[in-house]
Amino acid sequence: MAIVAIKCPSCHGDVQLDDSREFGFCVYCGTKIMIRRDTPPASSLDGQVANLKPLMESYLGEGDLGRAQEYARSIIAINGADADVWYADAVAEICRSPGMLEQLKTSGTVPGLEALKNYEILSGRRADPADVERRCARRGTPNSPT
Ligand SMILES: [Zn+2]
Repeated sequence: MAIVAIKCPSCHGDVQLDDSREFGFCVYCGTKIMIRRDTPPASSLDGQVANLKPLMESYLGEGDLGRAQEYARSIIAINGADADVWYADAVAEICRSPGMLEQLKTSGTVPGLEALKNYEILSGRRADPADVERRCARRGTPNSPT
């Protein structure tokens, strides 16, 4: 066993917990805190994400954005911490709306598009308008000439 330092997810207090246990309680606010181990066994949910993500990427690569978005949303429902998945969701939304693509090209972002915002936060980057446009074009919909 070892004592691990964990931040309480509720009050952000620094709590020391015994890592031989499944969980402990925050000494400040009493919140139950699950103790994560460094090498957790792959849960079935992680396994599902590992299966879904390559499918999402291949649909995105083929320009089947509707399917890519379906898979992206399934993954997000399990784990929303992956910037790539939000990117796929955002690209699908942007390609559906020429106005959003224009906005991305002129201002570098699309205000109000939650998926894009999450991508920006998680990746620390802005979406590359050229990449998004290329993916939209691959979909085979008529693009406004630029
Ligand atoms: Zn607490």
